[in-house]
Amino acid sequence: MKQDPILKLQKISKKYSRQGIPAVKEVSLSLPQGHLLSLLGPSGCGKTTLLRLIAGFEQPLQGEITIAGTVVANTGFYLPPEKRDVGMVFQDYALFPHLNVGKNIAFGLKQNRSLSGTEIKKQVQAALDLVGLDGLENRYPHELSGGQQQRVALARALAPRPNLVLLDEPLSNLDVQVRLRLRTELRDILKAAGIAAVFVTHDQEEALSISDSVAVMQQGSIEQHETPEQVYLSPASRFVAEFVTQGNFLPASRNGKGWETEIGTFALDASQVSDAVGGDSGELMIRQEDMSLTPDESSEIVILDREFLGREHRYRLQLPSGMQLKVRTHQTPPLVPKTAVKLTIEEGMLQLFSSGSTLNRE
Ligand code: ATP
Repeated sequence: MKQDPILKLQKISKKYSRQGIPAVKEVSLSLPQGHLLSLLGPSGCGKTTLLRLIAGFEQPLQGEITIAGTVVANTGFYLPPEKRDVGMVFQDYALFPHLNVGKNIAFGLKQNRSLSGTEIKKQVQAALDLVGLDGLENRYPHELSGGQQQRVALARALAPRPNLVLLDEPLSNLDVQVRLRLRTELRDILKAAGIAAVFVTHDQEEALSISDSVAVMQQGSIEQHETPEQVYLSPASRFVAEFVTQGNFLPASRNGKGWETEIGTFALDASQVSDAVGGDSGELMIRQEDMSLTPDESSEIVILDREFLGREHRYRLQLPSGMQLKVRTHQTPPLVPKTAVKLTIEEGMLQLFSSGSTLNRE
Protein backbone atom coordinates (compact mmCIF):
# COMPACT_ATOMS: atom_id res chain seq x y z
CA MET A 1 0.00 0.00 0.00
CA LYS A 2 1.30 3.44 -0.89
CA GLN A 3 2.02 5.57 2.18
CA ASP A 4 0.54 9.04 2.50
CA PRO A 5 3.05 11.86 2.10
CA ILE A 6 4.42 13.29 5.34
CA LEU A 7 4.27 16.79 3.89
CA LYS A 8 2.01 18.16 1.19
CA LEU A 9 2.00 21.72 -0.13
CA GLN A 10 -0.79 22.76 -2.46
CA LYS A 11 -0.36 26.04 -4.32
CA ILE A 12 1.23 27.89 -1.41
CA SER A 13 1.79 31.62 -1.90
CA LYS A 14 3.20 34.29 0.40
CA LYS A 15 3.63 38.05 0.05
CA TYR A 16 5.33 40.23 2.65
CA SER A 17 3.42 43.33 1.56
CA ARG A 18 0.12 43.85 -0.20
CA GLN A 19 1.63 45.42 -3.32
CA GLY A 20 4.88 43.49 -3.29
CA ILE A 21 5.87 40.60 -5.50
CA PRO A 22 5.28 37.15 -3.97
CA ALA A 23 8.22 35.70 -2.02
CA VAL A 24 6.67 32.25 -2.61
CA LYS A 25 4.44 31.67 -5.64
CA GLU A 26 2.00 28.75 -5.97
CA VAL A 27 4.40 26.12 -4.69
CA SER A 28 3.13 22.55 -4.67
CA LEU A 29 5.09 19.52 -3.59
CA SER A 30 4.72 16.25 -1.82
CA LEU A 31 7.28 14.59 0.44
CA PRO A 32 7.21 10.84 1.17
CA GLN A 33 7.99 9.56 4.69
CA GLY A 34 11.69 9.46 5.54
CA HIS A 35 12.56 11.47 2.42
CA LEU A 36 15.29 14.14 2.33
CA LEU A 37 14.41 17.13 0.16
CA SER A 38 16.72 20.06 -0.57
CA LEU A 39 15.41 23.48 -1.49
CA LEU A 40 18.11 24.93 -3.71
CA GLY A 41 18.34 28.37 -5.27
CA PRO A 42 20.09 31.72 -5.31
CA SER A 43 19.77 34.27 -2.54
CA GLY A 44 16.28 35.77 -2.29
CA CYS A 45 14.49 33.03 -4.29
CA GLY A 46 12.19 32.22 -1.33
CA LYS A 47 13.80 29.13 0.27
CA THR A 48 13.72 30.42 3.85
CA THR A 49 10.22 31.81 3.42
CA LEU A 50 8.98 28.42 2.23
CA LEU A 51 10.62 26.71 5.21
CA ARG A 52 9.06 29.23 7.61
CA LEU A 53 5.64 28.63 6.05
CA ILE A 54 6.01 24.89 6.66
CA ALA A 55 7.19 25.52 10.24
CA GLY A 56 4.31 27.88 10.94
CA PHE A 57 6.34 31.06 11.53
CA GLU A 58 4.61 32.59 8.51
CA GLN A 59 1.04 32.30 7.31
CA PRO A 60 0.37 31.60 3.63
CA LEU A 61 -1.68 34.06 1.60
CA GLN A 62 -3.15 31.14 -0.33
CA GLY A 63 -2.89 27.39 -0.49
CA GLU A 64 -2.91 24.47 1.89
CA ILE A 65 -0.22 22.75 3.96
CA THR A 66 -0.73 19.22 5.27
CA ILE A 67 1.69 17.53 7.68
CA ALA A 68 1.23 13.82 8.49
CA GLY A 69 -2.36 13.90 7.26
CA THR A 70 -3.33 16.99 9.30
CA VAL A 71 -4.11 20.27 7.57
CA VAL A 72 -1.93 22.84 9.39
CA ALA A 73 -2.71 25.86 7.21
CA ASN A 74 -5.26 26.88 4.61
CA THR A 75 -7.42 29.91 3.89
CA GLY A 76 -8.48 31.37 7.22
CA PHE A 77 -6.95 28.53 9.27
CA TYR A 78 -3.49 28.26 10.72
CA LEU A 79 -1.90 26.01 13.33
CA PRO A 80 0.96 27.61 15.36
CA PRO A 81 4.49 26.13 15.14
CA GLU A 82 4.35 24.31 18.51
CA LYS A 83 1.32 22.32 17.37
CA ARG A 84 2.86 21.08 14.12
CA ASP A 85 5.20 18.44 15.49
CA VAL A 86 8.08 19.73 13.38
CA GLY A 87 11.75 20.07 14.45
CA MET A 88 13.90 23.03 13.35
CA VAL A 89 17.66 23.38 12.93
CA PHE A 90 19.05 26.82 12.17
CA GLN A 91 22.23 28.13 10.57
CA ASP A 92 23.45 29.61 13.87
CA TYR A 93 22.51 26.45 15.90
CA ALA A 94 20.38 28.56 18.31
CA LEU A 95 21.34 26.47 21.37
CA PHE A 96 20.48 27.73 24.86
CA PRO A 97 23.88 28.95 26.15
CA HIS A 98 22.98 28.50 29.84
CA LEU A 99 21.91 24.85 29.43
CA ASN A 100 24.31 21.94 29.04
CA VAL A 101 24.06 19.54 26.09
CA GLY A 102 21.76 17.10 27.89
CA LYS A 103 19.39 19.87 28.97
CA ASN A 104 19.41 21.46 25.52
CA ILE A 105 18.33 18.15 24.03
CA ALA A 106 15.77 17.51 26.80
CA PHE A 107 14.20 20.94 26.27
CA GLY A 108 11.71 19.92 23.57
CA LEU A 109 10.92 16.67 25.36
CA LYS A 110 9.93 18.51 28.54
CA GLN A 111 7.17 20.33 26.63
CA ASN A 112 5.49 16.95 26.42
CA ARG A 113 4.01 16.57 29.90
CA SER A 114 3.14 12.93 29.46
CA LEU A 115 6.84 11.90 29.43
CA SER A 116 8.37 10.74 32.72
CA GLY A 117 11.86 11.80 33.87
CA THR A 118 13.20 8.34 33.09
CA GLU A 119 11.66 8.37 29.65
CA ILE A 120 13.18 11.81 28.91
CA LYS A 121 16.62 10.56 30.01
CA LYS A 122 16.29 7.55 27.72
CA GLN A 123 15.33 9.68 24.72
CA VAL A 124 18.15 12.18 25.37
CA GLN A 125 20.61 9.27 25.45
CA ALA A 126 19.17 7.85 22.23
CA ALA A 127 19.52 11.26 20.52
CA LEU A 128 23.12 11.63 21.80
CA ASP A 129 23.96 8.18 20.42
CA LEU A 130 22.30 8.99 17.10
CA VAL A 131 24.44 12.10 16.52
CA GLY A 132 27.62 10.58 18.00
CA LEU A 133 27.91 12.86 21.04
CA ASP A 134 27.70 10.27 23.77
CA GLY A 135 29.68 11.41 26.84
CA LEU A 136 29.37 15.13 26.12
CA GLU A 137 25.99 15.67 27.82
CA ASN A 138 27.44 17.82 30.65
CA ARG A 139 29.34 20.23 28.40
CA TYR A 140 28.01 23.73 27.71
CA PRO A 141 27.61 25.00 24.12
CA HIS A 142 30.66 27.31 24.41
CA GLU A 143 32.79 24.25 25.25
CA LEU A 144 31.96 22.61 21.91
CA SER A 145 33.24 23.04 18.35
CA GLY A 146 30.89 24.43 15.68
CA GLY A 147 30.34 20.94 14.24
CA GLN A 148 29.51 19.53 17.69
CA GLN A 149 27.13 22.41 18.39
CA GLN A 150 25.30 21.73 15.15
CA ARG A 151 25.00 18.04 16.09
CA VAL A 152 23.46 19.06 19.43
CA ALA A 153 20.99 21.25 17.56
CA LEU A 154 20.13 18.28 15.36
CA ALA A 155 19.78 15.96 18.37
CA ARG A 156 17.47 18.50 20.03
CA ALA A 157 15.30 18.66 16.90
CA LEU A 158 15.18 14.85 16.51
CA ALA A 159 14.73 13.83 20.17
CA PRO A 160 10.93 14.36 20.29
CA ARG A 161 10.69 12.17 17.13
CA PRO A 162 8.88 14.80 15.06
CA ASN A 163 7.09 14.09 11.79
CA LEU A 164 9.48 16.31 9.94
CA VAL A 165 12.73 18.24 10.48
CA LEU A 166 13.39 21.56 8.77
CA LEU A 167 17.02 22.64 8.38
CA ASP A 168 17.90 26.18 7.27
CA GLU A 169 21.45 26.24 5.87
CA PRO A 170 22.64 24.15 8.84
CA LEU A 171 26.19 23.72 7.58
CA SER A 172 27.01 27.16 6.27
CA ASN A 173 28.67 28.46 9.45
CA LEU A 174 31.14 25.57 9.53
CA ASP A 175 34.52 25.49 7.89
CA VAL A 176 34.90 23.45 4.77
CA GLN A 177 36.41 20.25 6.25
CA VAL A 178 33.74 19.97 8.95
CA ARG A 179 31.02 20.90 6.50
CA LEU A 180 31.97 18.10 4.11
CA ARG A 181 32.11 15.52 6.90
CA LEU A 182 28.93 16.66 8.58
CA ARG A 183 26.86 16.67 5.41
CA THR A 184 27.35 12.92 4.97
CA GLU A 185 26.76 12.37 8.69
CA LEU A 186 23.62 14.48 8.55
CA ARG A 187 22.19 12.27 5.83
CA ASP A 188 23.14 9.10 7.73
CA ILE A 189 21.60 10.43 10.97
CA LEU A 190 18.33 11.45 9.30
CA LYS A 191 18.11 8.12 7.49
CA ALA A 192 18.85 6.20 10.72
CA ALA A 193 16.13 8.18 12.50
CA GLY A 194 13.75 7.61 9.55
CA ILE A 195 12.55 11.20 9.83
CA ALA A 196 11.76 13.23 6.69
CA ALA A 197 13.62 16.50 6.28
CA VAL A 198 13.56 19.68 4.23
CA PHE A 199 17.01 21.15 3.88
CA VAL A 200 17.64 24.70 2.62
CA THR A 201 20.89 25.43 0.83
CA HIS A 202 22.28 27.64 -1.90
CA ASP A 203 25.17 25.21 -2.47
CA GLN A 204 24.35 22.95 -5.42
CA GLU A 205 26.99 20.35 -4.56
CA GLU A 206 25.60 20.02 -1.04
CA ALA A 207 22.04 19.63 -2.35
CA LEU A 208 23.00 17.05 -4.98
CA SER A 209 25.13 15.01 -2.61
CA ILE A 210 22.78 14.52 0.31
CA SER A 211 19.19 14.63 -0.94
CA ASP A 212 16.69 12.14 -2.26
CA SER A 213 15.21 14.97 -4.30
CA VAL A 214 16.08 18.56 -5.09
CA ALA A 215 13.62 21.41 -5.67
CA VAL A 216 15.31 24.24 -7.57
CA MET A 217 13.66 27.59 -6.85
CA GLN A 218 13.69 30.86 -8.73
CA GLN A 219 11.75 33.99 -7.80
CA GLY A 220 9.41 32.18 -5.45
CA SER A 221 8.57 29.26 -7.76
CA ILE A 222 9.86 25.73 -8.05
CA GLU A 223 11.42 25.33 -11.51
CA GLN A 224 12.18 21.62 -11.16
CA HIS A 225 11.71 19.02 -8.42
CA GLU A 226 13.32 15.68 -9.21
CA THR A 227 16.13 13.40 -8.07
CA PRO A 228 19.65 14.91 -7.95
CA GLU A 229 20.58 12.86 -11.04
CA GLN A 230 17.57 14.07 -13.03
CA VAL A 231 18.12 17.69 -12.07
CA TYR A 232 21.77 17.46 -13.02
CA LEU A 233 21.46 15.40 -16.19
CA SER A 234 18.17 16.77 -17.53
CA PRO A 235 17.76 20.32 -16.27
CA ALA A 236 14.25 21.57 -17.04
CA SER A 237 15.31 25.09 -17.94
CA ARG A 238 18.28 27.23 -18.77
CA PHE A 239 18.08 28.63 -15.22
CA VAL A 240 18.30 25.17 -13.59
CA ALA A 241 21.06 24.15 -15.98
CA GLU A 242 23.14 27.18 -15.12
CA PHE A 243 22.55 27.06 -11.37
CA VAL A 244 23.01 23.34 -10.90
CA THR A 245 25.68 22.40 -13.41
CA GLN A 246 27.57 25.71 -13.60
CA GLY A 247 28.26 24.73 -17.20
CA ASN A 248 29.19 26.81 -20.23
CA PHE A 249 26.63 28.31 -22.59
CA LEU A 250 27.54 29.08 -26.20
CA PRO A 251 25.31 30.80 -28.77
CA ALA A 252 24.16 28.25 -31.36
CA SER A 253 22.27 28.47 -34.64
CA ARG A 254 20.80 25.73 -36.75
CA ASN A 255 22.39 24.83 -40.09
CA GLY A 256 21.92 21.86 -42.43
CA LYS A 257 24.13 19.62 -40.27
CA GLY A 258 22.99 20.49 -36.77
CA TRP A 259 23.63 23.29 -34.32
CA GLU A 260 26.57 25.48 -35.16
CA THR A 261 28.70 27.13 -32.45
CA GLU A 262 32.09 28.74 -32.34
CA ILE A 263 33.68 25.40 -31.40
CA GLY A 264 31.92 23.17 -33.90
CA THR A 265 28.60 21.94 -35.27
CA PHE A 266 26.75 19.31 -33.28
CA ALA A 267 23.96 17.04 -34.45
CA LEU A 268 21.68 16.84 -31.41
CA ASP A 269 18.86 14.38 -31.05
CA ALA A 270 15.42 15.58 -29.98
CA SER A 271 16.00 14.68 -26.32
CA GLN A 272 18.93 17.12 -26.21
CA VAL A 273 16.85 20.09 -27.33
CA SER A 274 14.72 21.86 -24.73
CA ASP A 275 11.04 22.36 -25.57
CA ALA A 276 11.53 26.08 -25.08
CA VAL A 277 13.81 26.33 -28.16
CA GLY A 278 11.43 27.74 -30.75
CA GLY A 279 13.37 28.98 -33.78
CA ASP A 280 16.76 28.37 -35.26
CA SER A 281 18.86 29.78 -32.45
CA GLY A 282 19.57 28.90 -28.85
CA GLU A 283 22.36 28.35 -26.37
CA LEU A 284 24.31 25.14 -26.14
CA MET A 285 25.17 23.94 -22.62
CA ILE A 286 28.49 22.16 -22.25
CA ARG A 287 29.24 20.98 -18.72
CA GLN A 288 32.73 21.70 -17.46
CA GLU A 289 33.45 18.00 -16.99
CA ASP A 290 32.27 16.95 -20.44
CA MET A 291 35.36 18.21 -22.26
CA SER A 292 38.99 17.19 -22.42
CA LEU A 293 41.97 19.02 -23.87
CA THR A 294 44.82 18.11 -26.22
CA PRO A 295 47.68 20.50 -26.98
CA ASP A 296 47.45 21.60 -30.62
CA GLU A 297 49.53 24.48 -31.93
CA SER A 298 47.19 25.06 -34.86
CA SER A 299 44.24 25.74 -32.52
CA GLU A 300 43.02 29.24 -31.78
CA ILE A 301 41.74 28.18 -28.35
CA VAL A 302 44.20 29.10 -25.62
CA ILE A 303 44.46 28.27 -21.89
CA LEU A 304 44.19 31.46 -19.86
CA ASP A 305 44.72 29.99 -16.41
CA ARG A 306 44.05 26.95 -14.27
CA GLU A 307 42.85 26.17 -10.77
CA PHE A 308 43.96 23.09 -8.84
CA LEU A 309 40.97 21.11 -7.53
CA GLY A 310 42.72 18.04 -6.14
CA ARG A 311 42.25 15.18 -8.57
CA GLU A 312 41.71 17.52 -11.49
CA HIS A 313 42.16 21.10 -12.68
CA ARG A 314 39.66 23.69 -13.80
CA TYR A 315 41.03 25.39 -16.92
CA ARG A 316 39.76 28.72 -18.19
CA LEU A 317 40.02 28.90 -21.97
CA GLN A 318 39.82 31.84 -24.33
CA LEU A 319 37.95 31.31 -27.60
CA PRO A 320 38.75 33.37 -30.73
CA SER A 321 35.59 35.46 -30.22
CA GLY A 322 36.79 36.48 -26.76
CA MET A 323 34.29 34.20 -24.98
CA GLN A 324 35.61 32.00 -22.23
CA LEU A 325 35.01 28.32 -21.44
CA LYS A 326 35.57 26.48 -18.18
CA VAL A 327 36.78 22.89 -18.37
CA ARG A 328 37.25 20.49 -15.45
CA THR A 329 39.54 17.70 -16.40
CA HIS A 330 42.29 15.40 -15.25
CA GLN A 331 45.23 15.81 -17.65
CA THR A 332 48.64 14.28 -17.04
CA PRO A 333 50.84 16.16 -17.05
CA PRO A 334 48.70 19.22 -16.31
CA LEU A 335 48.64 21.80 -19.11
CA VAL A 336 50.11 25.24 -18.61
CA PRO A 337 48.61 28.66 -19.37
CA LYS A 338 49.15 30.00 -22.92
CA THR A 339 49.04 26.47 -24.41
CA ALA A 340 46.86 26.24 -27.54
CA VAL A 341 44.44 23.32 -27.22
CA LYS A 342 41.94 21.28 -29.15
CA LEU A 343 38.71 20.29 -27.39
CA THR A 344 37.20 16.83 -27.29
CA ILE A 345 33.53 17.02 -26.32
CA GLU A 346 31.15 14.34 -25.09
CA GLU A 347 28.47 15.18 -27.60
CA GLY A 348 25.80 12.98 -26.05
CA MET A 349 25.86 15.18 -22.93
CA LEU A 350 25.18 18.46 -24.75
CA GLN A 351 21.87 20.23 -24.28
CA LEU A 352 20.31 23.14 -26.10
CA PHE A 353 18.24 25.80 -24.33
CA SER A 354 16.52 28.95 -25.50
CA SER A 355 18.65 32.07 -25.09
CA GLY A 356 18.54 34.46 -22.19
CA SER A 357 17.45 34.06 -18.57
CA THR A 358 20.89 34.39 -17.06
CA LEU A 359 21.29 34.18 -13.32
CA ASN A 360 21.56 37.16 -11.07
CA ARG A 361 24.29 35.98 -8.78
CA GLU A 362 25.13 38.09 -5.74
P1 ATP B 1 18.82 33.62 1.25
O1 ATP B 1 19.50 32.44 0.62
O2 ATP B 1 19.53 34.93 0.97
O3 ATP B 1 18.48 33.42 2.70
P2 ATP B 1 16.12 32.89 0.42
O4 ATP B 1 16.06 32.13 -0.85
O5 ATP B 1 16.01 32.15 1.68
O6 ATP B 1 17.41 33.82 0.45
P3 ATP B 1 13.93 34.49 1.41
O7 ATP B 1 14.67 34.92 2.63
O8 ATP B 1 12.83 33.53 1.56
O9 ATP B 1 14.95 33.96 0.31
O10 ATP B 1 13.38 35.80 0.69
C1 ATP B 1 12.48 35.77 -0.44
C2 ATP B 1 12.05 37.21 -0.78
O11 ATP B 1 11.25 37.73 0.27
C3 ATP B 1 13.21 38.17 -0.94
O12 ATP B 1 12.90 39.06 -1.99
C4 ATP B 1 13.28 38.89 0.39
O13 ATP B 1 13.80 40.18 0.23
C5 ATP B 1 11.82 38.91 0.82
N1 ATP B 1 11.66 38.86 2.29
C6 ATP B 1 12.11 37.88 3.12
N2 ATP B 1 11.77 38.13 4.40
C7 ATP B 1 11.07 39.30 4.40
C8 ATP B 1 10.44 40.09 5.41
N3 ATP B 1 10.44 39.70 6.69
N4 ATP B 1 9.83 41.23 5.02
C9 ATP B 1 9.81 41.61 3.71
N5 ATP B 1 10.38 40.91 2.72
C10 ATP B 1 11.00 39.78 3.04
